Amino acid sequence: MIEEKKSLNFIEQIIEEDLANGLPKEKLRFRFPPEPNGYLHIGHAASICLNFGLGLRYNAPVNLRFDDTNPTKEEQEYVDAIKHDIDWLGFKWDKELYSSDYFQQLFDWTIELIKEGKAYVDNQSSAEMAQQKGTPTEPGTDSPNRNRSVEENLALFMKMKNGEFEEGSHVLRAKIDMKHTNMHMRDPIMYRILKKRHHRTGNDWCIYPMYDWTHGESDYLEQISHSICTLEFKSHRDLYDWYLDQVVESDKLRPKQREFARRNLSYTVMSKRKLLQLVEEGFVNGWDDPRMPTISGLRRRGYTPASIKTFSETAGISKRDNVTDVALLEHCIKDDLNKTAPRVMAVMNPVKLIITNYPEGKEEWLTAENNQEDENAGYREVPFSREIYIEQEDFREEANKKFFRLKLGSEVRLKNAYIIKAESCLKDENGEVTEIYCTYDDDSLSGSGTEASKRKVKGTLHWVSVKHAEKAEVRVYDRLFTDEAPDGQKDKDFKEFINPDSLTIVDAFVEPSLKTAKVLDRFQFQRLGYFCVDTDATPDKLVFNRTVPLRDSWAKMGE
Ligand code: ATP
Ligand code: MG
Repeated sequence: MIEEKKSLNFIEQIIEEDLANGLPKEKLRFRFPPEPNGYLHIGHAASICLNFGLGLRYNAPVNLRFDDTNPTKEEQEYVDAIKHDIDWLGFKWDKELYSSDYFQQLFDWTIELIKEGKAYVDNQSSAEMAQQKGTPTEPGTDSPNRNRSVEENLALFMKMKNGEFEEGSHVLRAKIDMKHTNMHMRDPIMYRILKKRHHRTGNDWCIYPMYDWTHGESDYLEQISHSICTLEFKSHRDLYDWYLDQVVESDKLRPKQREFARRNLSYTVMSKRKLLQLVEEGFVNGWDDPRMPTISGLRRRGYTPASIKTFSETAGISKRDNVTDVALLEHCIKDDLNKTAPRVMAVMNPVKLIITNYPEGKEEWLTAENNQEDENAGYREVPFSREIYIEQEDFREEANKKFFRLKLGSEVRLKNAYIIKAESCLKDENGEVTEIYCTYDDDSLSGSGTEASKRKVKGTLHWVSVKHAEKAEVRVYDRLFTDEAPDGQKDKDFKEFINPDSLTIVDAFVEPSLKTAKVLDRFQFQRLGYFCVDTDATPDKLVFNRTVPLRDSWAKMGE
């Protein structure tokens, strides 16, 4: 097999360079570091695919590290959901680790820093400290507490740790340089007081380390060779390195932080904080609502792990901020389901059609191919009888030549069945067609080999036998936001762009083979799109989500 040689992304180029410069290959180690303060979204999938992809490419371990330093927002529910999502995507982490496991080590290092005069306790208000911070173009000024003695700092820090001070009254700061051109280096906060129960360490701690002080040291403790994060941390890199300088021992590997651009997607928002608002304020029905860009929402919507990986790979990683068109994501799932989803017949907006010359009481079980794209998919039987449902929009009393569906006086083929001809119809007082009367050619059964079966008619319609039809609730989704970029618009909250019609519930009829469909089973409803069984389905009630319609706006753009 000839394998297409893919060009290396810029992170892989950095790694290749490090290997060429003598980094032993067995020292490569990566991590995916979610904060358990929400569910994973399609942006995280970019980072997951990147980090675990590196693990696979270099046969190197990848840790799952929960970055759990903020007890006000973190919960076990999120830890469990994150693990489930990564596992579902098909990636295997080496170790499951928690930054909170390093609280004692971080504390011990901090004591050393204080002793070396590199950290001090500040008890000014946050407004005062913000004022002294300066601006990107003006240097900051020193805190009056900057030159406390080591003894005083140790005593105050111990009091912070022992819960003797109020939240917000004291912080511990690294003593770096208030005039540094990088604002992050102007005596950043290392610890704050939070009298909150932590989901893992309980009430053991009431001081919690800040992200910057935790992240690089956790990377170091785990001996992560390449710590890959998103661009907003680029300006933190100086600090990441400064903190490492304080702890790295010469015989140990020194981690390297490198940044790539966040994945943004059109027509959605991606930050957990905003997704949480949608959940809490009831705009959606939970984190796994099929309209959410979360991994759990996409799963429930009918997305496959393969489609999410293909999407992540195709969209690629970049050094600059950009927005990926959601049509690419939709294209990836359509492409996957086209190959894998069994075809079935379902009618979403039914009108009854009666075949007047078909014997009353007769029924036939006709053979239907499950998936013409997959020769191993086999066949199933679908029941046919005198009364069937077709889509309302597939019939018109009169229409021009371009209407290849059913109209009075002309013929269509019923998929897997016979050729029928519309003779007349019945309408209600509003002029809506309520019944269509047809005749059929009993010699025209698909696949029967007769001359009549080979007759070419322009249209083929899907249908469901009335007597055998199963009722199903179908949830049809539109985009959750009406604007391409709901996020970050001046003077407007993203929630102003919520689409009021993002969910439509339809009562449909489906062929009886679907009665045994299981939660998350995926299908193509012929001529309608791809659908999957929702988690709300019960043995008595079929519920489907429309994953995507058949039309492919991404493929069209490429034409
Ligand atoms: P959010 O703003 O959505 O809360 P976050 O960056 O705070 O995201 P984390 O749980 O800290 O979320 O992220 C875990 C990892 O996933 C980090 O390495 C982060 O850089 C990466 N990540 C988060 N969002 C994206 C995204 N949109 N695109 C690519 N990587 C992302
Ligand atoms: Mg975060």
